[in-house]
Amino acid sequence: MSEIIIAKTSGFCFGVNRAVETVNNLLSQGKKVCTLGEIIHNSYVINDFEKKGVKVINSPSETPAGYTLVIRSHGCVKKDLEFIKKNNIDFVDATCPFVKKIHKIVEVNKENNQILLAAGNADHPEMIGIRSYFNNKSYVISGKKDLQKLINDGSISHKNLIIMISQTTFSKKEWENCTNLISNGFTNITIHDTICNTTNSRQEEAEKLSKTSDLMIVVGGEKSSNTRKLYEICKKNTDAILVESVKNLPLINYEKYTKIGIVAGASTPIKLVEQIKIFLEGWYYG
Ligand code: SF4
Repeated sequence: MSEIIIAKTSGFCFGVNRAVETVNNLLSQGKKVCTLGEIIHNSYVINDFEKKGVKVINSPSETPAGYTLVIRSHGCVKKDLEFIKKNNIDFVDATCPFVKKIHKIVEVNKENNQILLAAGNADHPEMIGIRSYFNNKSYVISGKKDLQKLINDGSISHKNLIIMISQTTFSKKEWENCTNLISNGFTNITIHDTICNTTNSRQEEAEKLSKTSDLMIVVGGEKSSNTRKLYEICKKNTDAILVESVKNLPLINYEKYTKIGIVAGASTPIKLVEQIKIFLEGWYYG
């Protein structure tokens, strides 16, 4: 029988837990709740909230009368927050404090020639929110290659004052590649390492565990950026599969693996991870 190890860092991170608990607390007070976008990237949690009457809306102007609007841990764009306040919409801001910190860093820019270099995924809601707080030109880089391209084509030069930040779930290794590259040629740059510690420790544990396991199961939502990163780290070192829950687990012969590691993204309830372990144990017991 294989040894099955669940990573110690599995389960909700602080920011996700805070957002989910915000919704739970409002529901327990008898309030009607809607969220600006899905509260977290996990369909299990979304479906559960839907059954409890929580509505997902795409713009604060869609807030139904009598509802309390919750801003999720990724945060929202600046103009949405301004709209909410201006129109006295009842709301709770569950933006993770680590994301809020990045909003504050990029919002202080006053100089016209300042540009923002943001490491991460341009389409991710957290990144869209961050960029909305910056007044001047901003570039998103997914890694060292993108940065090299911007340097080569002159998009960033010594004339600019550069602020560099990262999405909270960006890969630590890729961040170091980027900061090493830019620090070599540019002195006109302020670098803020804004990768969340939770993300760091999850990635480090995934790296370690995947080096000693012959199969890694990564549990998390399709849209979850930090889950994808964990999967990429694991599959470099060993066989890896990415599933949202036990229901998506492929029916392969798990007995051939000596050690199976399980890691989970920051928006994965620990219950889903434990169900996978139970399934695997049941598999062996027949
Ligand atoms: S991963 Fe970090 S920054 Fe993102 S919600 Fe969780 S605690 Fe906050």
